[in-house]
Amino acid sequence: MPELGLRYADGICFSEGDQVVVDFVNKIEAGENYLNTPNMAFKVNGLNKVNKALAPFADLDSLPFYDYNLDDQFLLDQGLFQMTKELLKERLAGYPYPVPTLFFLTSRGCPHRCSYCNNSRYINLFGHNIMRFYNIDRIIEELEYTLGHLNFIEVVVFGDDDFFMRSRKQLEYFANTYKKRIGLPFGIAVSANTYRKEKVEILLDSGLKVIQLGVQSGSQRTLDEVYNRKIKISKTKDVVQQMASYHKTHGLDVLLDFIIDNPYETRDDIIQTYQFILDLPLHVRINIFFLAFFPGTPIYNKALMDGIIKPFNEKEFRFYTRSHVTYQRNYETFLILLARFLRRHRRLRRYFTKYPLRVLGRHPVRCIASILPESFYFMMSKRVQ
Ligand code: SF4
Repeated sequence: MPELGLRYADGICFSEGDQVVVDFVNKIEAGENYLNTPNMAFKVNGLNKVNKALAPFADLDSLPFYDYNLDDQFLLDQGLFQMTKELLKERLAGYPYPVPTLFFLTSRGCPHRCSYCNNSRYINLFGHNIMRFYNIDRIIEELEYTLGHLNFIEVVVFGDDDFFMRSRKQLEYFANTYKKRIGLPFGIAVSANTYRKEKVEILLDSGLKVIQLGVQSGSQRTLDEVYNRKIKISKTKDVVQQMASYHKTHGLDVLLDFIIDNPYETRDDIIQTYQFILDLPLHVRINIFFLAFFPGTPIYNKALMDGIIKPFNEKEFRFYTRSHVTYQRNYETFLILLARFLRRHRRLRRYFTKYPLRVLGRHPVRCIASILPESFYFMMSKRVQ
């Protein structure tokens, strides 16, 4: 969002930079005017100059490999430091496992258009939804090259928005080649709509270790009317149970994403997310995110119109992973955070089995609990975060 970036920088690239960065650097080097570079915006005499956006870059295979020669790379973190393998190894560990992990993209774009997601912003910018894929041979070659430099990597996570957008034939070729030439455990993200049992099974044999799926809400109303996600919650439940069954047979870990603290949800919507979480097998890991209103997304525009947020107000851009409950300081949201807290702490689980948690979610208990003020649930929610 150029209006924000230009508060801090003289110029920014607001779309894909693959083509334009070369042009931009060449112009600077030659002392030429670079202020018309497409996909970029500049501050000129105190005003924002936003240039035209190019169509999305199509020929991904023509791009060079990412540069992992560390000799001329630096780390900027409270000082400028020469990048080293040790530093990189440290920085690349943490999610989803505490071991050095390489995040890698094999495609760009997502077939969906969720109202809160940066994909919506790109779709608005490009005028349509466009998926682009790297060729599989090229992916394997780049992985070999990269892992040759970063020989400490233990897991590869493919960051594609939906890895199952590839055909079964392509996945078969990928699985065979990856197993022979790379062989590290790997993770993917998929959607309940593209999930297919046979696709998972192809990948399980080549090292699939973790699979991530966005649920976001247990309420169909929220998914349809607020998030614009064309996915049936019943289908998601079914897919989650199928994925979870591979934990015992293949050691597959399942990660599910949920979004809470959404001002457009009712308490009945929220309790459906809570019930969804209670139904999950305990080995399934859950990520709870706080709804963030990103400028350029439909939900940002709606919240602006409804007076929930102010335009480009940085205070409202809360960190979506680490934040406090703002809009839904109520018993139901507290229950979701409590359920996550108990799932995380193995020792506590046995004191709080599913049955008492279910009772806490029942209507009469909710009615009584709702007598307590918002400030109480705000405080309690902080305790279980
Ligand atoms: S499915 Fe995920 S990546 Fe795709 S638009 Fe929705 S939130 Fe974004």
